[in-house]
Amino acid sequence: MYRTATDTWHSDIRPRLDAAAQRHPDGRAWLTLLAETLRELQAPAWTAVVPQPDLERPMAAPLLAGVTLAVDHNMLRRWVRRLRQRAAKIRNPSTAPLAALDTRRLDPLPLLEAAMCLDEARLEELAKADGVDPGPLGALMQLATLPLLQGCGRSLAPQVPLDWSYGYCPVCGAWPTLAEVRGLERTHRWRCGRCGGDWGLSLLRCPYCGEANHQRLGSLTTEDNDATCTVDTCLTCKGYVKTRAVLQPTPPSAVVLEDLATVEWDLVALARGYRRPTQAGYALGVRLVEPPSRIRTWFGWHS
Ligand SMILES: [Zn+2]
Ligand SMILES: [Zn+2]
Repeated sequence: MYRTATDTWHSDIRPRLDAAAQRHPDGRAWLTLLAETLRELQAPAWTAVVPQPDLERPMAAPLLAGVTLAVDHNMLRRWVRRLRQRAAKIRNPSTAPLAALDTRRLDPLPLLEAAMCLDEARLEELAKADGVDPGPLGALMQLATLPLLQGCGRSLAPQVPLDWSYGYCPVCGAWPTLAEVRGLERTHRWRCGRCGGDWGLSLLRCPYCGEANHQRLGSLTTEDNDATCTVDTCLTCKGYVKTRAVLQPTPPSAVVLEDLATVEWDLVALARGYRRPTQAGYALGVRLVEPPSRIRTWFGWHS
């Protein structure tokens, strides 16, 4: 059955937001901002952006690699401004640095392009050139890219190669946000919190370095063991992935929420010296450009 973004909001997003806010009251300000972003996914403008994958791309390249996306400049500008204004309304110390950003002079196209590519060096360079703080600007831009990435993820999902064997997302090149052990068959899948990507292999291995020796792969537990989440670790690269047991696949737009809702597991992993990479798994090289100006058509007049 086809489900609209509004259906998903009521059945999958809202209950998850409420549960996460109850579990992590300190994270409420961020959740409010994330809620604003997830509500934006319902806007039809984002689904109008249709990526055309490069058919000549290398085998290891995700679907968005080297793609040029035509995005309305003014729509982006309005969206970034609205997100910053929402951060200002929350009046919380954790979102105050975002609210303090002067976004009026910023050009959103190169900023969102860098955020989509997870290119921190480029983001920092652009922030410095605009005279704004790179940390909060990067955080705002990562949120601002979500509707675009989710729109691309939705449109490209049918083209994901079934035999995709790399650890990074087959759509956007990011490392997995979470893993899922799904259903009674316990199918192992990796999920991307940015574009909602869904991929994996039957063979258990580290997504970051490819380690498959089970003696080098482990999992962390805590005393108040939550059976629905564990942390899978790799001794070879010291990377970790949170793994959730689920009956059904998490809806693409809810993966980012599940990541926030399981933040206590990140703390367990970090305390034991494990990390997850912040860089992209694959340098995407995506480009955002203004759409070609529309050609005015006069109806009712024929030559
Ligand atoms: Zn992705
Ligand atoms: Zn590894």
